[in-house]
Amino acid sequence: DRGLNEADPDVRAIINKEKERQFKSLELIASENFTSRAVMEAVGSCLTNKYSEGLPGKRYYGGNEYIDELETLCQKRALAAFHLGENEWGVNVQPLSGSPANFEVYTAILNPHDRIMGLDLPHGGHLSHGFMTPKRRVSGTSIYFESMPYRLDESTGLVDYDMLEKTATLFRPKLIIAGASAYPRDFDYPRMRKITDAVGAFLMMDMAHISGLVAASVVADPFEYCDIVTTTTHKSLRGPRGGMIFFKKDPVLGVDLESAINNAVFPGLQGGPHNHTIGGLAVCLKHAQSPEFKAYQNQVVSNCRALASRLVELGYTLVSGGSDNHLVLVDLRPLGIDGARVEKILDMASITLNKNSVPGDKSALVPGGIRIGSPAMTTRGFTEREFTAIADFIHEGVKITIDAKGLVSGSKLQEFLKFVASPDFPLTDKVSD
Ligand code: PLP
Repeated sequence: DRGLNEADPDVRAIINKEKERQFKSLELIASENFTSRAVMEAVGSCLTNKYSEGLPGKRYYGGNEYIDELETLCQKRALAAFHLGENEWGVNVQPLSGSPANFEVYTAILNPHDRIMGLDLPHGGHLSHGFMTPKRRVSGTSIYFESMPYRLDESTGLVDYDMLEKTATLFRPKLIIAGASAYPRDFDYPRMRKITDAVGAFLMMDMAHISGLVAASVVADPFEYCDIVTTTTHKSLRGPRGGMIFFKKDPVLGVDLESAINNAVFPGLQGGPHNHTIGGLAVCLKHAQSPEFKAYQNQVVSNCRALASRLVELGYTLVSGGSDNHLVLVDLRPLGIDGARVEKILDMASITLNKNSVPGDKSALVPGGIRIGSPAMTTRGFTEREFTAIADFIHEGVKITIDAKGLVSGSKLQEFLKFVASPDFPLTDKVSD
């Protein structure tokens, strides 16, 4: 059997280029990370060849004795990594990713057109929490369920729990979703539990962004208050791309979550599990119980604080004023520039982050902020010192963007950006690659 170099040099060449890009750039996208060689070995193994519809011991195909062993090990490690008792909590490790995991929960516990409330996307929530615009139901969640998003208090940048409570009392959702893609603070789980109980709803936390921080106990524990917790596995947790759903074993609101969720995953929405991913996830979850992993997560948070405090020193406005976790959200509107241009300019200098809407934004395509995360570069050994320097680099990019706006206006800006992309541009020697 031929290896990739010989069998397909085209794909090999693309992989090599991507590897070099990952290696050379400052990776600051808050949802990305560098998984370990051990995880990648498991993901690239023969486990990908096997069909295993069903759960351990209850499969629709033969030859699953080792896959059963693997999935059971992965489930045990998942519960241990999040400090959960096997009598109180169960877990399904088959979801293909975060969005499918969330949709599986909704179809497990809701009927079509039941009401849900999640954090609005322009205020930091995720598409799969029910995003819709006044014109269009954008996500499948808002097409199949009735969504009424809650929002931040724009004056503090924190979730407006009072408004959530008032709206929930009127809207009477069956499910309230905590969790976000761009929220630099912890959720107030006790408050959300109180609101949820008062209206007779389920409380779910989508901890995708912070699951590594939860496993290491460096942020508040959602399991103390929630009925269901979903996560991706490839962000701060640093595993392969995938998803998990944790559920309470005792019935909640008369629903047996274990069978409802397991059936929603298969046969409800998925077929054969991705056993290679489950193998990689098991490896990741072993590591997630180590002292080294806890130290890493502590460093992720310290690095983010160092970044935030240097940005504040440099005069930037941060949504909520700072960060308790792995990301900061910078509001660039006071500087008269937008996040889209800053993202582009920094990309040219191999600094990878993303434009992000900030509360009060008018446009999602040209939003007023940038999101900066610390997990990936912390994996590569960066400490507070390097993250302070990163704040200074970002500041340089912002200054260039401001200068560009002063130098040229309207359609001329495109020309200027072309110049920035050309080899003559002095910021970096890498743009001509
Ligand atoms: N939930 C949250 C909070 C996320 O931030 C994301 C992705 O960024 C997802 C779910 C979706 O995960 P996936 O891209 O794996 O579907």
